[in-house]
Amino acid sequence: MLSVHRAVVTGTRAHTGTRTLFSSAYQAKQRLVILGSGWGGYEILRAIDKKRWNVIIVSPSNYFNFTPLLASCSVGTLEFRAAVEPVRRYTPDVVSYTAWCDSIDFKHKKLICMPATAPVNFHGTKNPPGGSDVNESASSVSGSSEKFQLTYDKLVIAVGAYNQTFNVPGVKEHAHFLKDIRDARAIRTRILECFEQANQPTITDADRRKLLNFCIVGGGPTGVEFAAELHDFLHSDLARHYPALARMAKINLYDVAPVILGGFDTGLQEYATSKFKREGIRLLTQHHVERVEAGRMYVTEEGEVDFGLLVWSTGLAPNPLIQSITEAKKDERTKR
Ligand SMILES: Cc1cc2nc3c(=O)[nH]c(=O)nc-3n(C[C@H](O)[C@H](O)[C@H](O)COP(=O)(O)OP(=O)(O)OC[C@H]3O[C@@H](n4cnc5c(N)ncnc54)[C@H](O)[C@@H]3O)c2cc1C
Repeated sequence: MLSVHRAVVTGTRAHTGTRTLFSSAYQAKQRLVILGSGWGGYEILRAIDKKRWNVIIVSPSNYFNFTPLLASCSVGTLEFRAAVEPVRRYTPDVVSYTAWCDSIDFKHKKLICMPATAPVNFHGTKNPPGGSDVNESASSVSGSSEKFQLTYDKLVIAVGAYNQTFNVPGVKEHAHFLKDIRDARAIRTRILECFEQANQPTITDADRRKLLNFCIVGGGPTGVEFAAELHDFLHSDLARHYPALARMAKINLYDVAPVILGGFDTGLQEYATSKFKREGIRLLTQHHVERVEAGRMYVTEEGEVDFGLLVWSTGLAPNPLIQSITEAKKDERTKR
């Protein structure tokens, strides 16, 4: 494990007989480590006075996602670059590590981090990027799968939450989430792939309908917003390029609850419900998905449902790093 030490500048001693002057006003900058480059972490990164703090950001993504634009990006209404900001726009004032924080030692103010970059298969450089503060002697060989250690004076924990799957088998493997720009890109690629596959002359109409069956699980704001964006995409761009296929396409929105947008006021729920029904989006409330396989899910109330694309958006699950922390106070109900 590499050890990245706190860079404490104590001034130069006069070992060589030369005189060294110290300023009595000199104060070493404290080190602030920010975990996460989402809404919380990135806002701190933007606003913090980098002249007063040595700032290090640790996040598996080297960018900030502007989440409200992801649904539009996933259907091409917006370019992907409209929804991200690179954290490196603040370098060289800020050191950034593309890594996960695995654990926090609050007593010794130490973090154990795991690179989130692909492992390298050669005996490369010993220091991670920006690693002038890396203790080289701690490691003879580096690789980007090797854990490293960081120390901090102040720590901001802004690691957000994970996608909730309620442990429904197959969701992680066969469904798409919509939480990151990479998800939006994968969804867009898959929608277009479904249309190109369905467009092959050798395919049957029955299989075309399966490929063009778009399912969304979760009638919260993300699922509803995505359903609306997908509808507009199907009926504008795709209807122009694939008129016959666009007519075969179906959008289905599933939720276990009796209504969509459960956390919002009833006026909004009713508006969204009637608008979706008018637009031909099927609302399958009080439906339960039991398991998901490649291109197929099993719904208690419907049996087997074949799909070309499944987007899963059923809320948030706790981040394992937060779960592992016992030293900090958490919200009683959500444990966040
Ligand atoms: C599609 C979509 C649309 C949305 N639209 C709206 C909206 O219109 N209005 C609104 O108010 N909210 C909206 N939200 C919700 C909003 O995005 C979240 O409330 C917000 O992202 C939470 O901010 P955060 O900083 O806590 O977490 P996040 O923004 O999720 O950021 C967490 C960061 O921590 C990183 N991370 C995770 N684990 C670790 C680790 N172990 N070590 C280091 N880094 C880690 C992640 O990679 C990420 O960079 C939307 C969400 C989505 C998904």
